[in-house]
Amino acid sequence: KIKVENLSKVFSTEEVDTYALADVSLNILEGDYVSVSGPSGCGKSTLLSILGLLDTPTSGQYWLDGIDVSKIGLSQSAEIRCEKIGFVFQQFNLIDELSVADNIALPLRYSRKKYSRDEILARVHDCLGKVGMQNRAGHKPNQLSGGQQQRIAIARALVAQPAVLLVDEPTGNLDSRNGDAIMELLGQLNAAGTTICMVTHDPRYANFARTQINLLDGKIQLPGEGAHGAGGGLQGVAA
Ligand code: ATP
Ligand code: MG
Repeated sequence: KIKVENLSKVFSTEEVDTYALADVSLNILEGDYVSVSGPSGCGKSTLLSILGLLDTPTSGQYWLDGIDVSKIGLSQSAEIRCEKIGFVFQQFNLIDELSVADNIALPLRYSRKKYSRDEILARVHDCLGKVGMQNRAGHKPNQLSGGQQQRIAIARALVAQPAVLLVDEPTGNLDSRNGDAIMELLGQLNAAGTTICMVTHDPRYANFARTQINLLDGKIQLPGEGAHGAGGGLQGVAA
């Protein structure tokens, strides 16, 4: 379970302080499927990065499965991330020098758990199948289309079978047929017990989630509030 309270993130330069997140509080219960929407620059990726232990808040608290992770060091957060969280970046962040299969295997090779060669092969194969890319294991990322790279990034996030999957614009680079296929995959993963938090600017895809959160200028919009607030349900979320 994810619980954050009064989370703020300020990016400061000499000229200006940008409040990417301002006093965000929310709970994500085990097994939930949450969407985070809102206009470009409203703080969606910043929130997801903090939830994924890739960045730390300027102030506020974050408990992951009851552990206060707001102030832990980098190496400890990397361990927790490897064990609990799958992360799909908005810009994929695949490693160009590695094959598709080696990219997907990365979380297993960096995990504290030891996986045998056979288990790594089996899991990579399984995840390639889940995203419909079985015949591309030996390709390099730059030999794939944007949408195909998106699917490899999702396969990599799944390979360690994380309890929580954080995905930033998973359909952003896909046509509607492939976008729908990814949404179906996320739905299946959630039905099988994976907790999902998905950033999307597409209202059609936000509707796939059970709980919808709208951000505006770094703040959570309650239903009926602000230009984009109407229709957003916060049941089980408002802390
Ligand atoms: P998009 O839909 O375009 O991806 P977003 O909602 O994901 O937008 P964020 O990437 O979270 O937006 O950015 C929120 C705000 O924080 C923006 O104003 C952005 O300029 C600022 N910001 C994000 N990262 C940094 C950084 N590393 N340094 C300075 N400002 C940053
Ligand atoms: Mg973003």
